Amino acid sequence: MLTGYRYLLAFTPEQNAYAEKVGAACRSVWNTALEQRRAYRKRGAWINYVEQARQMAEAKTEFPWLAEVPSHTLQQTLRDLDKACRTHGTWKVRWRSKARTDPSFRFPDPSHIAVERLNRRWGQVKLPKFGWVHFRRTRAVGGTIRNTTVVRDGGRWYISFCIEDGVVAVEPNGKPPVGVDRGVAVAVATSDGDMFDRVSIRPGEAKRLRRLQQRLARQRKGSNRRRRTREQIGILNARIRHRRSDFAAQTANRLTRDHGLVAVEDLRIKNMTASAQGTVEQPGRNVRQKAGLNRAILVKGWGAFLSALQHKARYNGSVIVKINPAYTSQTCHACKHVARESRESQAVFRCVACGHQANADVNAARSILAAGLAVTGRGDLAVGQSVKRQPPELVPA
Ligand SMILES: [Zn+2]
Repeated sequence: MLTGYRYLLAFTPEQNAYAEKVGAACRSVWNTALEQRRAYRKRGAWINYVEQARQMAEAKTEFPWLAEVPSHTLQQTLRDLDKACRTHGTWKVRWRSKARTDPSFRFPDPSHIAVERLNRRWGQVKLPKFGWVHFRRTRAVGGTIRNTTVVRDGGRWYISFCIEDGVVAVEPNGKPPVGVDRGVAVAVATSDGDMFDRVSIRPGEAKRLRRLQQRLARQRKGSNRRRRTREQIGILNARIRHRRSDFAAQTANRLTRDHGLVAVEDLRIKNMTASAQGTVEQPGRNVRQKAGLNRAILVKGWGAFLSALQHKARYNGSVIVKINPAYTSQTCHACKHVARESRESQAVFRCVACGHQANADVNAARSILAAGLAVTGRGDLAVGQSVKRQPPELVPA
C-alpha cells in the first residue's frame, strides 16, 4: 500500500539558498506554462505536456537559472500542471503566487534518491544537485520510495516520501463497531462514550495570531515588514496545523485499531460550507457554532480526520462507513424519536418522547452507528447488544 512519510530537513545555508532557487524556478515554470495553456485555450487549441517539455528544454539554453535546476524536477512541475489542467480544467487551476504559495518541488525518479541512516536521530538523503541533506529521522524509512517532495511549510523545509510499504491487504480485525460524531465542545465523540480532544491553538497563540493579523492589516502592501508579518503568521499557522493533524492521525489510529467498523457522517465539504442553516429536509447541525471562522476551522479539521481514518483503516483491518447525516443529532438513540427540541443544549440531549438523557454528541454518535450498521446490512446489531460475539464481516475498504 502507498503511504507518505514526512521529515524535517536540515539544509546547510547553501542548500537552503539553492532550495529557494529551485522552488522559485518551479513556481515560475508553473505560472508560465499555465499562462501558455490558457492562451492556447483562448484560441480553441491545446498544448500538451510533451510540447511544453520540449520548449522548456530549449529555454534552458537561454536561461541559466533554469539550467541550474534538476531537469526531472522541472519536468515534474509540467506533468503536475498537465494533470491539474486535465482534472480541474485549465481555467480553474490556480497561479502559484509568491506570497501565498509555499515553494515545493518533486523528484519523480527514485533511482536518483538515496537514503541513509546516520544515527538514532538523524538520517541523510541524497538529492540531485543538492548532495547529501540531513533530516530528523523520527521514524524509519521503510519500504520502496516512489517519489520525493520537498516543501517549505511554516518557514521550515520538509521532505516527504511517497512509499510503497509492501503491506498487501490486512485481514478484517473483527473488533466491535463504533459510531463517531464530530462535536463542537469536543473534537470527536464515540458511541462508546469516549471523547477525543486536544487543544490545537493555545490561548497565547490565539492572542498573538490576532495581533499579527491586525498588524498585517495596517502594513503597506509589498513592504518588507508586511512580508515578515506574513511569515510569522505562516509559522504560527503551521504549528497549529501540525498539532491538529497529529491529533487526527492518532485518534484515527486508535479508532480503527480497536474497531472493525467506524461509522461517520458523510459530510461533503460543499454541503457544509453552503449553509449552516441547512434545508427543511436536512436541517443544519450546530447552526450557531458553525457560523463564521469557527465553521471553517471545523470543516478543515473534520476533512483531515476523515482522510486519516480512511488511511489507517486499511492498515488496521477496519472499514469506514459513511452515512447520511440528516437528523443524527435530533434522533433519540433509545426510542428513535426525532425532534429538534430533544437537543436541549449544545451538550445535553433529552428526548421529548421518552426522557432518555445523554451527552448530545454521544447520542449522535450512537445514531450514526445505528445508521452505519443499517447501511451495511448489520442493522440487527443494535448498539448495546454484545456486538463482540457478532463482528461485522466486512472487507476492508
Ligand atoms: Zn427517546
